[in-house]
Amino acid sequence: MIVAKMTTHENINPPKKGDLTGEEKEMIQVAAAGDVKEAIQLLSNSNVRVNCLDEYGMTPLMHASYKGKADMCRLLLQHGADVNSNEHEYGYTALMFAGLSGNAETTEMILDAGAETDLVNSVGRTAAQMAAFVGQHDCVTVINNFFSRARLEYYTRPQGSEREPKLPPKLAGPLHKIIMTTNLNPVKMVMLVKENPLLVDVVALEKCYRVMDLLCEQCVKQPDMNEVLAMKMHYISCVLQKCLAFLQERDHTLDALLKSLLKGRDGDGFPRYQEKFIRDCIRKFPYCEATLLQQLVHCIAPVEIGGDPTAFSVLTQALTGQMVLKDTEYCATCGEKDADKKCSYCKMVVYCGQACQRLHWFTHKRQCRAQYVQRNSPARPLRDLSSSAHDRDVAEATSSMLALCLDFSHCAFDDTPADDLPAEQD
Ligand SMILES: [Zn+2]
Ligand SMILES: [Zn+2]
Repeated sequence: MIVAKMTTHENINPPKKGDLTGEEKEMIQVAAAGDVKEAIQLLSNSNVRVNCLDEYGMTPLMHASYKGKADMCRLLLQHGADVNSNEHEYGYTALMFAGLSGNAETTEMILDAGAETDLVNSVGRTAAQMAAFVGQHDCVTVINNFFSRARLEYYTRPQGSEREPKLPPKLAGPLHKIIMTTNLNPVKMVMLVKENPLLVDVVALEKCYRVMDLLCEQCVKQPDMNEVLAMKMHYISCVLQKCLAFLQERDHTLDALLKSLLKGRDGDGFPRYQEKFIRDCIRKFPYCEATLLQQLVHCIAPVEIGGDPTAFSVLTQALTGQMVLKDTEYCATCGEKDADKKCSYCKMVVYCGQACQRLHWFTHKRQCRAQYVQRNSPARPLRDLSSSAHDRDVAEATSSMLALCLDFSHCAFDDTPADDLPAEQD
């Protein structure tokens, strides 16, 4: 978290548009170019005000965010750059520039430094609307899913007659990380729980899910009801409760939960338990009059398990505004975007890394073999393989060969990004 500070010099002399010293002119250029080394030099000079304004009312931070220079933004924020400076001729803020740039990292950093999300430009558009207008959907997602750490930290202090806070302070960081995730795949969320040993604990999970329930209630009851955020808080609470239930069943590593979520059903390998889990979470949303709940149920209820759209894609679109498109590459395990490690056998699934492939293998191996055999014997459809002793032998030989080759110590996956792979030879 970057805490903004203001120098006394600036308190006395608020910067005026276009009133720049020579060094400040240089600072503006250096900020846009992202030259951190040069910027450190300039910022140590008393002639350089971090919130100086060029003739259009742009601060160095605005220039750096517009160019998507994350390191420069970090440096300027550390030097007290004002995230909510609003002197730009068309009312653009640093957050708007970050959103336009499409750089999700700077967008998040600026939000974290306290940027207001509801400021509007001269034609009444918020940063999220501007980013959406130019198609920067990742930034829109980051802005719409932002939840300030301060709002969560409220629960780390005892309130009223409480002797203990609802949330132990050490849990605020790991819980905030889960709240901020834009990948709602339950596997990913369980991984985030697993990642922090403090969370893999019955008492900790119980405290966390209760805080999530309180936040959910707060989002519903606040004057400008935020159903989207309420649903997200509720969904996270459900995931945490599921982890808790598995821990109580002595699944100490949560591996059994991950496997349940990943296990594909016979035939098409569709993760049935995962789909049912997400549907259940949605159904259990405690405010049945919420429009969002009704829309979600309306979309999902008529769909058979395994059909399209999946509960995951409907929920993701509703909560993050992102379409789960078939043509984008998502990790078959954790749902992270832009996964580019293809299973080297079937070439049908992609992963974000080896850990995810390893985790998926116990259930993917059947689909993988089936795909491989189908691809390599086009004249012999898969269903005929076991129809004769000979075919059974071939099938067995193929599958043991595959088992050998697919051993992860041998050949885990192609390291080549999916796009660069040569065309398949049949
Ligand atoms: Zn993954
Ligand atoms: Zn495969």
